[in-house]
Amino acid sequence: MADTGDVLELYTANAEATMGIGRALGACCVVGDVVALDGELGAGKTQFVRGLAEGLGFDPRQVSSPTFVIVQEYDRRNPSDRDRAGDAAEVLVHIDAYRLRSAEDLASIGWEGDGGSMREGAIVAIEWASLMGSGLPADHLSVRIEHEHGDGRRLSLIAHGRWVPRMAQVRSALAEAGRDASS
Ligand code: ADP
Ligand code: MG
Repeated sequence: MADTGDVLELYTANAEATMGIGRALGACCVVGDVVALDGELGAGKTQFVRGLAEGLGFDPRQVSSPTFVIVQEYDRRNPSDRDRAGDAAEVLVHIDAYRLRSAEDLASIGWEGDGGSMREGAIVAIEWASLMGSGLPADHLSVRIEHEHGDGRRLSLIAHGRWVPRMAQVRSALAEAGRDASS
């Protein structure tokens, strides 16, 4: 993996801890960012996006897997949240690629090329990102979640493109949030 950029390995013992990592990451995101999640059903991808939403200043209770609609967009709780984290992103675009079968399916939700206008003013979180094919932008942070024993999960954050020089910032945000991040 060394040739794909910086890798950060984390362990969480419960759902709240996974959400906490998402929350810390949300505070590091800037407009146009893509967070690409992979992991089997029940791994905690949606849980992670809930934390991400909160870190961006969005209400995490809005977040659910858009399995059937493929895409959901969340807005800010209220306008005063605008000076919070997330570089004032107006929307969180939440995609679930599980049911995508073709580039036409992607186009049908408005995702052209590597996202195009859907990334304007937005942060994008994608579940089952590996199913996006060439629709997945080269610039993304990959988050892989794997089951460990019981409620334990192994998380790998893998930086691609513009995320590579930002991994130091992500590390310190996680450390600040009380997570034990080691590479
Ligand atoms: P996915 O979107 O990957 O299918 P969800 O986030 O919807 O998964 O569901 C994950 C489930 O696993 C939730 O019910 C959550 O409470 C539970 N869970 C238990 N331990 C963890 C953990 N360490 N991290 C994330 N979720 C966990
Ligand atoms: Mg999900």
